[in-house]
Amino acid sequence: MSCELKGKERIGNINPLFTCQPCGAQYASIGIKDCIGIVHGGQGCVMFVRLLFSQHFKESFEIASSSVHEDGAVFGALNRVEAAVDVLLMRYPNVKVVPIISTCSTEVIGDDIDGVVKKLNEGLLREKYPNREVHLIPIHTPSFKGSMISGYDVAVQDFISHFAKKSEPNGKINLLTGWVNPGDVTSLKHLLAEMEVEATVLFEIESFDSPLMPEGNHVSYGNTTMKDLESTANAIGTLALNRYEVGKAAKYIEDEFDVPAIIGPTPIGIRNTDTFLKNVSKMTGKPIPTSLVRERGLALDALTDLTHMFFADKRVAIYGNPDLVIGLAEFCLDLEMKPVLLLLGDDTTTYNKDPRIIELQEKVNFDMEIIVNADLWELENRIKNEGLELDLILGHSKGRFISIDYDIPMFRVGFPVYDRAGMHRHPIVGYSGATWLAEQMANTIFTDMEHKKNKEWVLNVW
Ligand code: SF4
Repeated sequence: MSCELKGKERIGNINPLFTCQPCGAQYASIGIKDCIGIVHGGQGCVMFVRLLFSQHFKESFEIASSSVHEDGAVFGALNRVEAAVDVLLMRYPNVKVVPIISTCSTEVIGDDIDGVVKKLNEGLLREKYPNREVHLIPIHTPSFKGSMISGYDVAVQDFISHFAKKSEPNGKINLLTGWVNPGDVTSLKHLLAEMEVEATVLFEIESFDSPLMPEGNHVSYGNTTMKDLESTANAIGTLALNRYEVGKAAKYIEDEFDVPAIIGPTPIGIRNTDTFLKNVSKMTGKPIPTSLVRERGLALDALTDLTHMFFADKRVAIYGNPDLVIGLAEFCLDLEMKPVLLLLGDDTTTYNKDPRIIELQEKVNFDMEIIVNADLWELENRIKNEGLELDLILGHSKGRFISIDYDIPMFRVGFPVYDRAGMHRHPIVGYSGATWLAEQMANTIFTDMEHKKNKEWVLNVW
């Protein structure tokens, strides 16, 4: 019985789990009001990322490209950034925040995006837009290292370090959510409202779920303002829910502005939500109200109905964003399931120091593998060639063909999810998230029992 943490034993990637760093920076940028990012690279670096966002949310988001071509790749393409900033500011009179997001090609050719920002600040902005507030923010996201996860982490820190300014205490906490869905933000805000705690939420992405209004189509964007970013320096403390997505920013605010940070855990499941609320209470001095104790009780009641009867010993594979995967694995263990395979899709070297992974290694009493730098072939190969037996897969839509081809039930969770409707509206964090997650996992297993005629009669008598 062991829990092994190891790298994949192949060079190259077959069906990657993640996309590249600029994607993470773009996800952070669409969470900010009056912000349109310029991705300095080929058009595909924006086009395919926008497509993922649109597929996941079924909404449109605005992101620009400096559209680098062959000549730029050879001779340098900073002129494209200068032109892109000018065109963007002319075309969008309300835009105030313009991150310049680098890519693999423009990092390799050595384009100095910090230098061009300085040049534009001293030239174009002064001469052509003297009365306009514009913030150009260079964000370095070469795609030959890290992944969309580290890209998000880097971008959040860059946005905060650009805007954060010490002034009067604001009496709020900073809630850095990490890469979550609108439903998760709603759930987290509900928990804080019940505790009567005010928070600056980064990022306010509930509005990614946008209405279709009589006047026509709507472009979606987040509602985090420049003022929100500025005031992070004046908070009581920072709660960073996802270690690998907002850990850098939380540490930065702590080091620069003396705002204490608590990093993690991701509040997936009962025990992690308990810890989250205790952390909020510790940071603010506010008690956990009876209403949340009742909510917890409702969730426990729902889980108890399912755990021993249906979840016990079910073998699960989980892949996706590392904080999500680890949180789901902890939740599965609490539900008496066996998360036998965890796939983390990047080459982060500190996973072996993550206290949650250390705890898994110390406590798991069955064979479990955690693969870093993993791809979806790591999952498929084990099923196809190594006899891995699974009762459930948890992951995003990119793994759907493994579920279909090997007839293994799969519940969609993470990013991107485009082959099931409305998943971004449902929280997986908090007590309500734990209930929804467990019930959807159970329903997925029930449908499979019926489909395979495997003890489906149990459902008649349950
Ligand atoms: S790998 Fe490079 S070229 Fe491809 S999308 Fe990412 S940044 Fe753009």
